[in-house]
Amino acid sequence: MANLKPERSVTMSDIQTMTLRTNSAGMKQATDILRKGGLLAFPTETVYGLGADATQDLAVARIYAAKGRPTFNPLIAHFPDADSAKSHVHWSEEADILTNTFWPGAITLVLEKRQDSTLSALLSTGLSSVAIRVPDHSIASNLLHQFSSPIAAPSANPSGAISPTKPEHVLSSLAGKIEGVIDAGACRLGLESTIIDLTVAPTLLRPGGIPVEIIEDCLGKKLQNTQAKDGIKAPGQLSSHYAPCAKLRLNATSALDEEVLIGFGDMECDLNLSQDADLTEAAAHLFAHLHFLDKKGVACIAVAPVPQHGLGQAINDRLIRAAAPRD
Ligand code: AMP
Ligand code: MG
Repeated sequence: MANLKPERSVTMSDIQTMTLRTNSAGMKQATDILRKGGLLAFPTETVYGLGADATQDLAVARIYAAKGRPTFNPLIAHFPDADSAKSHVHWSEEADILTNTFWPGAITLVLEKRQDSTLSALLSTGLSSVAIRVPDHSIASNLLHQFSSPIAAPSANPSGAISPTKPEHVLSSLAGKIEGVIDAGACRLGLESTIIDLTVAPTLLRPGGIPVEIIEDCLGKKLQNTQAKDGIKAPGQLSSHYAPCAKLRLNATSALDEEVLIGFGDMECDLNLSQDADLTEAAAHLFAHLHFLDKKGVACIAVAPVPQHGLGQAINDRLIRAAAPRD
């Protein structure tokens, strides 16, 4: 197994990025940033989001610029509750069933946008549909209630890189490009939301924090799975995504020379996703372990096999994309 090298330094650029507390003064600063069209990273139960006022074109455009995100990749609009989301989309019975069961929570629905919606057209990159979510995190929820306008928020990381599950992950790549980050510690789930397209027969666009089996049980039917078949509808569908600087080798049972081994279950390794083979714990550790090894300057990471059921589907989806050849 390889030795872990010293940490890399962080590069700062123009904007002064404030780290905000979760008290009322911090939340006031946070809503002020959003109102002025600024960029604010905030915690959710999935990963840290890079937020901007979803109704201001310029603010939404700044998200794409700060992330270096291709402008064909639409963003999710976040709401404090289902009722406030309903005025922007054409609701459906299936939307009712899923949101009554899973909201607030880690499921994003894609629905047709209403003509009178005030959401910026840039948010959905000119598509007639829009992705919506109500996060299950007290700080995100306070922010959304206090701001009282939808917040556009992809994950707070450069496009294609590992999603942030801690404020320090956000700062290491976006300091100097955003006005603030609310520091609320580590995200509980550590994996992005599951995305379901309801503009057609319910279709999985991205596995995520709520396992597919549970969603299928709730709907009483199987989800269609057109991941990447009809072109890219979600950035997580790009073959290389969630990528650390290091090269990844999957389904490894031991480390080769120079490799650092990320294990799963009871095994000898450098870092373990979950010693107890618990998929929820593994999901929460996945991005944090990759960030940690990147920061140490590790060049080659081997990852042990992770079972494909429950949250394992989303974990393996992220690992496969993180290991994919890059352009
Ligand atoms: P992230 O950037 O990780 O927060 O992911 C946001 C996700 O929402 C991406 O996978 C987007 O492509 C997806 N999304 C947003 N709007 C739409 C839409 N109208 N149709 C399909 N997917 C969408
Ligand atoms: Mg992302």
